[in-house]
Amino acid sequence: MNVTSSEFKLSAVGPAQYPEDGLPEIALAGRSNVGKSSLINRLLRRKNLARTSSVPGKTQHMNYYLINQSFFFVDFPGYGFAKVSKQQREVWGQMIERYMLERETLKLVLMVVDLRHPPSKDDIMMYEWLTHYDRPICVVTTKADKVPKTRWQKHAKVIKQDLGMRPGDPFVMFSSETDMGKEELWTIIEGYLGT
Ligand code: GDP
Repeated sequence: MNVTSSEFKLSAVGPAQYPEDGLPEIALAGRSNVGKSSLINRLLRRKNLARTSSVPGKTQHMNYYLINQSFFFVDFPGYGFAKVSKQQREVWGQMIERYMLERETLKLVLMVVDLRHPPSKDDIMMYEWLTHYDRPICVVTTKADKVPKTRWQKHAKVIKQDLGMRPGDPFVMFSSETDMGKEELWTIIEGYLGT
């Protein structure tokens, strides 16, 4: 993908704020601090478009980024942050549920997990939830640079098993430090965008 333009477009909590231009959307979900903002910034070759936040769980909106005037990244709020109240969790759940149920322009969900660790309970729940809506999912494992190369496949296997990954869903090992996986991920995204 040759990214020629990328901009923050809008924040949404529900359908009333979703863009109405019918452009395809790639959603990103992952627990707080997993490296989701860094991933977006690296893919778009922007230093700080998706704010790399030191306060996990702060953003409670879906953030829309318009790329090449032709599709959106939709960044879901990070989950699994202990300080988020039960009520906030429910609001968050309803927000994502509505989106998954109703959003016809959604082409692919990037489920972002940390390659270093087995998936958390929240990761597993999230994956089950996404598969429930029968949406295409690509699992992207971040921070691969922090795992010795000799252990990559082992860690990948644990993550695939623990998530109960569907056989057809793509899986990419990624690093925002080394750009590992970047081209592979763009190729997958392009495939789902149909470009
Ligand atoms: P977010 O909360 O999911 O958006 O996470 P951030 O993108 O803000 O990243 C959280 C922390 O992990 C920051 O200190 C990043 O510099 C670091 N980080 C993110 N991705 C990587 C990666 O691929 N490799 C390494 N070594 N650090 C990363």
